[in-house]
Amino acid sequence: MKTEWLRKTIADFDPYFVAPIAEKHVINANENYLNVLTIPGVKEELIQALDTFRPQIYPKPMSDDIRKALADYIGAKPENFIVGNGGDEMITYLLGTFLDPGDQILIHSPTFDMYELGAETLGASAIKVKDLPGYRRDQKGLLEAVRRYQPKVTVICNPNNPTGDLLPRAFIEEVLKAADNIVFVDEAYMEFAQKESVIDLIDTYPNLIVLRTLSKAFALAGMRCGYLAADEALIEAIAKIKAPYNLNAFTQLFAPIVIRHREDIFKVRDAICVERDRLYAAMKEIPSVTVYPSCTNFLLVQVDKKQEEIFEALRRKDILVKIYRNSQDIPNGFRISVTTKDVDDVLISVFREALA
Ligand SMILES: *Cc1c(COP(=O)(O)O)cnc(C)c1O
Repeated sequence: MKTEWLRKTIADFDPYFVAPIAEKHVINANENYLNVLTIPGVKEELIQALDTFRPQIYPKPMSDDIRKALADYIGAKPENFIVGNGGDEMITYLLGTFLDPGDQILIHSPTFDMYELGAETLGASAIKVKDLPGYRRDQKGLLEAVRRYQPKVTVICNPNNPTGDLLPRAFIEEVLKAADNIVFVDEAYMEFAQKESVIDLIDTYPNLIVLRTLSKAFALAGMRCGYLAADEALIEAIAKIKAPYNLNAFTQLFAPIVIRHREDIFKVRDAICVERDRLYAAMKEIPSVTVYPSCTNFLLVQVDKKQEEIFEALRRKDILVKIYRNSQDIPNGFRISVTTKDVDDVLISVFREALA
């Protein structure tokens, strides 16, 4: 392949790296340990639905059944949603709808990589407002940047990946009022925070777009289902660039069943939040460890020393965490997905022993 064949904007992108997985406990990608098929009724309803399933037919272009289930869950109209192959696909659609080459988006840093990557692919760039010490968002700096640059899209990840920080909804409303352009709030982890969501403000602010996903609290990472919620006019605009049959028929069959069973699924979510707080408290007691308060299903942890040794010691115990190697933003960092007490007890003992 000749490099000249590539779109110029991506010529020097690094390949996206997904770590090869050999470990039993994979807690590096914020997946949920729940298998929804174990929830009473889910498998039975799925099998029943399969009786009339016709995989030879193209799926519904706008995922009507999922939109209806979401409307019931969120308390909005089906027309307020656009659904796709994971939140990642929705980010691509969103940026593709609003960005021209040379445009700017505004992000806080550190955050999820996909916003900057997606913007750069389109020949746009990202203005970054660095977090305050302790990885809390610089609210004043963000508002100033919105007013000064009027970026085409202002991106707020709330709660933030990878820091776990939750911004108050009142701040996001200030951003919405200050921005002449799109404000995109990524609420992938909002079901864990259960407060400060702005999804009910889509009727109030015609420039607000909220992202949610079924990958995290709903435990469907493998199914691929994410959605945007916004004013109908915005949804219609984004739908113009969507691939006609972007979401496969099986996800369209299964997701509404899972959404209907959310009460049981959220019991597991609640258990994860309790376990997160326990893990946080235990990690906080370990010398040479800094752990940040989190409103998600993961914790950001930094160590003063022995980062690589701890990573390897965890792997020997069959645990894979996300490690930030040579990172400017997150020196000596790990991002640890919260699962169950047995896994976390091993984790805690590995950190304790290494840093004793
Ligand atoms: C996981 C995640 C998403 C979307 O994930 P999908 O699996 O593609 O739905 C979006 N934003 C953030 C911040 C995430 O962590």
